[in-house]
Amino acid sequence: MTKQILVLPGDGIGPEIMSQAVKVLEQVNQQFNLGFSLVEDVIGGAAIDKHGVPLADETLALAHKSDAVLLGAVGGPKWDTLDRAIRPERGLLKIRSEMKLFANLRPAMLYKQLAEASTLKPEVVSGLDILIVRELTGGIYFGSPRDTVTLENGERKAFDTLPYSESEIRRIAKVGFEMARLRNKKLCSVDKANVLESSRLWREVVTELAKDYPDIELSHMYVDNAAMQLVRAPKQFDVIVTDNMFGDILSDEASMLTGSIGMLPSASLDAQNKGMYEPCHGSAPDIAGQNLANPLATILSVSMMLRYSFNEVRAADAIEQAVSQVLDQGLRTGDIFSHGMTKVSTDAMGDAVVTALAKL
Ligand code: NAD
Repeated sequence: MTKQILVLPGDGIGPEIMSQAVKVLEQVNQQFNLGFSLVEDVIGGAAIDKHGVPLADETLALAHKSDAVLLGAVGGPKWDTLDRAIRPERGLLKIRSEMKLFANLRPAMLYKQLAEASTLKPEVVSGLDILIVRELTGGIYFGSPRDTVTLENGERKAFDTLPYSESEIRRIAKVGFEMARLRNKKLCSVDKANVLESSRLWREVVTELAKDYPDIELSHMYVDNAAMQLVRAPKQFDVIVTDNMFGDILSDEASMLTGSIGMLPSASLDAQNKGMYEPCHGSAPDIAGQNLANPLATILSVSMMLRYSFNEVRAADAIEQAVSQVLDQGLRTGDIFSHGMTKVSTDAMGDAVVTALAKL
């Protein structure tokens, strides 16, 4: 049966990196006989230009109908002055929440070929392989009330709300435990239970759930300490599970341990493992349209899609192997370039991965 994938390139470097990911997807589709059909639509700034909103109802309907969504990135200076309710990022938040994609998986893995690209010492980061599981549809990014008001004395005051229900915490913690079970059986739950009420409940629920996972070594860490430990001794972590805002920040920090945000894919899954796959980085307006962007994070997002939504492990492994081979060949986009390597464009990197794949 044909499986439909919705492709949403988005803005900035989105279309450039997505063309490479689509090339790779078409190659594995044919090579492994996967039976995928692709449909393309707009999101973010491109959707604002076309429909006046960052996510049109028909695009959302297509996402619901598809078996998986592959997304580039959204946003850019052109839309920065728009009202908050129709900014490009709202399209992203809406598609995540409408598709009930509550679990965001962000691996931070350092390819041995790129040990020099990290700002940390090679001995601190070499062999790094962390998975951050971030809660994606709750917490402070969605909580209400939220507002900016003017007080009687004329001073402006703004506030947000950080709510988490027991069931929201339990389902994301379960993903954390399950992922740890597939890896090195260590789960670190990150919160701010010394200060926040929502974090106290978070810690209680995670601790209760641990009884169902006696094979997993559970630890708890405050977020400020986790931020420090990630740069001090990142290899102590296997899987980290945390809330929406802490996960947003820690996963960007973890991404830099690996040298470039341009290497890191992500998956956002619902309760049935239907998912949206996207690079961790944004739309990089500073390099958009110049054929400079690193397409590997988006290409590796295709690999995650094959693994988590379609259980096509061989094809997923093949993509990762092809990426490793092009790095072995010394090919580097500007963001991961170092002395003695060959600097290549976005297109050339995509072509090299396709060529390596075809030879596997
Ligand atoms: P960014 O990730 O777009 O860029 C940060 C830096 O990393 C820039 O110097 C950029 O050139 C570089 N970079 C990012 N991806 C790269 C790649 N693939 N190859 C090479 N270099 C890369 O973050 P930002 O500058 O804070 O945000 C730019 C825009 O992207 C904003 O409008 C922001 O709202 C949006 N954004 C979107 C997403 C998303 O779509 N998921 C995530 C973050 C930011």
